[in-house]
Amino acid sequence: MNGNKTLIMIKPTAVRKGYIGPIMGKIAEGGFKIKAMKYTRLSLEQAKAFYAVHSERPFYGELTGFMSSGPIVAAILEKENAVEAWRNFIGATNPAEAAEGTIRKLYGTSLGENAVHGSDSDENAGIEGDFFFSATEIF
Ligand code: ADP
Ligand code: MG
Repeated sequence: MNGNKTLIMIKPTAVRKGYIGPIMGKIAEGGFKIKAMKYTRLSLEQAKAFYAVHSERPFYGELTGFMSSGPIVAAILEKENAVEAWRNFIGATNPAEAAEGTIRKLYGTSLGENAVHGSDSDENAGIEGDFFFSATEIF
């Protein structure tokens, strides 16, 4: 059965370029409801923990260095079948391959700096949501 929540992040480059507002607008347009949200910055240790599943990948150092390089926005979004709905909405991992009109196509700058994160499963959406938010921060 499909879940109705996903954990998303607006990544450091997109924040730095001033894309928080436009991306929040897309989130509203896409019919995603905000359940939790915060503006924060990951330490390198936190970024390594968040992306531990990728620790054996060659880009792990680049990814965790980048994700701890500046502030991010983290949010839990709600929609029917949220994980898949968000991943379809943001487009392919590589912005160059993302469909026209998707968030990664519009606001991503490279494969690594691809504007936004999205959970890849309901199970990970729960784990990632717990990483950022306590029960009193979710509405
Ligand atoms: P997604 O974010 O689409 O789920 P992955 O889980 O495969 O993609 O990778 C996590 C993140 O790691 C990507 O969003 C991207 O920022 C970065 N990344 C993935 N592949 C590469 C790569 N080959 N080189 C550099 N960074 C990468
Ligand atoms: Mg992933």
